[in-house]
Amino acid sequence: MKLPKAKRFWIETWGCQMNELDTQRMAGQLMQSGMLPTRSVEDADIILLNSCSVREKAEHKVFSQLGRYRRFKADNPGLLIGLCGCVAQQVGESALDRNPDLDFVLGPARVGELSRILDRRQPGERIVATGFPEERLFDIDTISRAGTYKGMVTVIEGCDKNCTFCIVPMTRGSERCRPLEDILIEVEHLVEYGFLEIELLGQTVNHWREPGGQWDFADLLDRVARVPGVERLRFVTSYPRDFTPRMVEQFRRHPNICPYLHLPVQSGSDRMLKRMGRGYTIDSFRRLVEALRAARADLALSTDLIVGFPGETDGDFQETATLVEEVGFASVYAFKYSPRPGTAALNLPDAIPDDLASERLQKLLQLQERIQRGLNEQLVGAEMDVLVTGWAEPPQLQSGRTACHRIVHFPAEPDARPLGSIAPVVIEKANPHSLLGRQPTIR
Ligand code: SF4
Repeated sequence: MKLPKAKRFWIETWGCQMNELDTQRMAGQLMQSGMLPTRSVEDADIILLNSCSVREKAEHKVFSQLGRYRRFKADNPGLLIGLCGCVAQQVGESALDRNPDLDFVLGPARVGELSRILDRRQPGERIVATGFPEERLFDIDTISRAGTYKGMVTVIEGCDKNCTFCIVPMTRGSERCRPLEDILIEVEHLVEYGFLEIELLGQTVNHWREPGGQWDFADLLDRVARVPGVERLRFVTSYPRDFTPRMVEQFRRHPNICPYLHLPVQSGSDRMLKRMGRGYTIDSFRRLVEALRAARADLALSTDLIVGFPGETDGDFQETATLVEEVGFASVYAFKYSPRPGTAALNLPDAIPDDLASERLQKLLQLQERIQRGLNEQLVGAEMDVLVTGWAEPPQLQSGRTACHRIVHFPAEPDARPLGSIAPVVIEKANPHSLLGRQPTIR
């Protein structure tokens, strides 16, 4: 008997870990309804573009990608194309006018409804599912973890801050925290599934609070770190102002909390921070870094920086460069300011010319490259545990991440390691953005 050919799906993902997890949630639902992923977009019966709207460029990219898929629709009239993620929430129904090939638009808060929406869709119907329903579906049994190396767990969605440059509160809605018990059940389930590394996710992850209760993120970290089998625990993204001494203390208490923290500072100038509406000063940021390093001497920090924010003077920029030098970030995600619709910063005077912003960005990236190379060189000769994340080029090299989140490439010999396992690697060479090593010889 010949089985009918299963329908295939293809998902493209832009942006942050929250989007990566939403992709796993959508893939899981499609697989549960009998569809299979395809390695070739040409073969897909449904294409989902899971978009990011943090920068204008990312938004343009998703629409130009949609344009490229027009020919597939001509070859396969049954093909469904969906725009998902933050751009979907931001542009809503207008996406249907902008692209006649789109069949549906699905906002991030509606991801859990994908299967239901597809089941109910009438032939030819074009659907817009955006907004922030009271009841959001979050079914951990329909997340596809296949092909992933760490277990990501949403603990808080949305954001209640109003940083003047940021579109996230508009695309992800206001904060909603998941109950501690739900989170612990999911973590236990992930450990049972075989994940050694757990990553807690939220736009302002350290603002998590037990709904209607007393516990805060320090308690959550403590409880998750105690779950047997959690060998590595990470969390992203932390908001500097929300970090408390009790949270810092967890780094001291639990060695399985990775010695790595992404702490977006955005600028080294108090004047700019005020214009960005960040609600902290550089002095308080410095004190937080000191406290964190006192708790964990080997802590690697990374940060986000915006250059060319309206009104940024040479002096402000210099303060950012000074902070970068002083803190010694293990990595920096620096971007030119990108004006986003509906944000308060659009009304700020003193826009910075693009060529000046580009010049500052280049200077910052060069400075960071020098710092990163120096920090990475200090690791040469060390034996580090590397969580295997995939294969590198050339393919006989495997790739992974140290606990301090550095990328390491190493020859698969003597043993190719499975995805998500931990391999000891002796570091032999440092590049600014990665390390090269070898697995130690077993005597
Ligand atoms: S804290 Fe600020 S930058 Fe971060 S998501 Fe919220 S509004 Fe955006």
